[in-house]
Amino acid sequence: MTERDVMDFDVVVVGAGPAGLATAIHLANLVERHNQDVEKAGKGDKLEPQICLIEKAAEIGNHSISGGVMDPKGLDQLLPGWRTMEPKAPVEAEVHDDYALWLTAKGGFKFPITPPPLKNHGNFVVSLNKMVKWLGAIAEQKGIQIFPGFPAAQLVRDGNRVTGVQLGDSGIDKHGQQKGNYQAGGILAGKLVVLAEGSRGSLTKQLVADLNLEGKNPQVYGVGAKEVWEVPAGQCAPGLVVHTMGYPLDSHTFGGGWVYGMGKSEGDKNLVSIGLVVGLDYRDPTMDVHRQLQRMKLHPKVAPFLKGGKLLHYGAKSLPEGGLYSMPRVYGDGFLLVGDAAGLMNSMRLKGIHLALRSGMLAAETALACLQKGDSSMATTVAYDQKIKADWIHDELWKCRNFHQGFHKGRLAGLVNAGFATMFGGKGTFWSDELKSNAGHTYMQKVGPYFGGKGKPKVDKLAEDGVLTFDKLTSVYSSGTLHEEDQPCHLVVTQPDLCSTRCVEEFGNPCQHFCPAAVYEMEEKAGTRHGVELKINASNCVHCKTCDIMDPYQVINWVTPEGGGGPNYTNL
Ligand code: SF4
Repeated sequence: MTERDVMDFDVVVVGAGPAGLATAIHLANLVERHNQDVEKAGKGDKLEPQICLIEKAAEIGNHSISGGVMDPKGLDQLLPGWRTMEPKAPVEAEVHDDYALWLTAKGGFKFPITPPPLKNHGNFVVSLNKMVKWLGAIAEQKGIQIFPGFPAAQLVRDGNRVTGVQLGDSGIDKHGQQKGNYQAGGILAGKLVVLAEGSRGSLTKQLVADLNLEGKNPQVYGVGAKEVWEVPAGQCAPGLVVHTMGYPLDSHTFGGGWVYGMGKSEGDKNLVSIGLVVGLDYRDPTMDVHRQLQRMKLHPKVAPFLKGGKLLHYGAKSLPEGGLYSMPRVYGDGFLLVGDAAGLMNSMRLKGIHLALRSGMLAAETALACLQKGDSSMATTVAYDQKIKADWIHDELWKCRNFHQGFHKGRLAGLVNAGFATMFGGKGTFWSDELKSNAGHTYMQKVGPYFGGKGKPKVDKLAEDGVLTFDKLTSVYSSGTLHEEDQPCHLVVTQPDLCSTRCVEEFGNPCQHFCPAAVYEMEEKAGTRHGVELKINASNCVHCKTCDIMDPYQVINWVTPEGGGGPNYTNL
């Protein structure tokens, strides 16, 4: 049995994204206020909680990426003076103009009015990884113990009660043998553990399954691929927000694209953010978000934004799109779930940062109550759920509660459903109050229209030109992704035989397509049933979790790699 150091904390936060950092910052503020009140009243006990925050990236912000338009509602409540604070909040530009485009294969049109959920006046174009670095510095100033480069390998539990987090071991080679620099991951014991791992976090996934926390619907995800370009001045005004619908996605695939003017950054460069989100409940087993983004950039209504420009950065992430009815139970004995881990995303507005920040604040209020009562059992943590239900978080998500499910009957039905929801503020959505959905991977089709005459998938090839369009490996290079090569593979395929047998026949190995970072390859291998075998290029992984979500047999388990590995996002 491995001996592990144990460090005791009051609150352990897993993940330094907006939700985890908001939890830590607000808790520090609440404790300070509590202690001032005790001092003023001359009675009561002061609190001196030990709060720690762990992050798998080498530096805070390196793994943070978002679509990039922030509703300031959450930040206004977390840090009311943020607009005048020093150092300045790193917002790129305030939105001054927005419109939506409907794209057909060769043309398209501008919507005469911008659909209300896509109106963004008063919001800000941001780079999440810059925002997160800024919030991280604030948390540090408030005395939060932040440990970057420390991945959480598993939860420590006593029955249903979460009692801490075990950090990942380091210094193990790819065969599972200890190397000279081996270090056993320690245990961070916490009276309360706040899971802020982001979308499809590995600990959250395990906990939701073990304790049966799933909501009315299983979570449905999307995957977004994003690029940041330097373009000539004047080509895309800072604060311009353009959303696209239609091409390159077919009518059975949920999703859409964007172009955002970011303004000047990285010296004096004029930056533009461009991206595409695809619902991870698509039918086409050859769907490839990276390839579709490349195709979108060639469209005559999109290409002019990038003309004469240069690709600087690339990244991808999954996002929870199921909405209110897909939220898991967000509290339990010794734990809370916040942000994307709690399924808090408004997919109708393509926004989650404000929800993440606000959920972190409500978790902090609950954490304070746990500290004051000396009790973090469900009897106390249930208050977090009650706070969410009484908050604008719930009001906002209730209005679009059936948005994503509406698209399971096709794009037209989905848009009509969304139109009704918008018109009537979510009241009387016309199918039923609670549209059902299944786990996204179950919608993927086996042999069918996506397969050619010889039973091989019809992959629509794209000849990348290296100017406007790029292959996946070039894109991965732009994400700054790096992992220690000599370590156990963090993509654990529990039934590898399936890959070279049934999966070839039934789905044509969709992992080659859905991974936006060219991690999965089917290599020629004599002696196998179809002459191929799975090869995993784990060091390319950008930690988007799409494979864990979309594998049709659910045999891919994403686990945390050695600390510090992964993308190194800049301005994404
Ligand atoms: Fe995303 Fe999985 Fe590919 Fe990593 S291996 S980039 S988590 S799809």
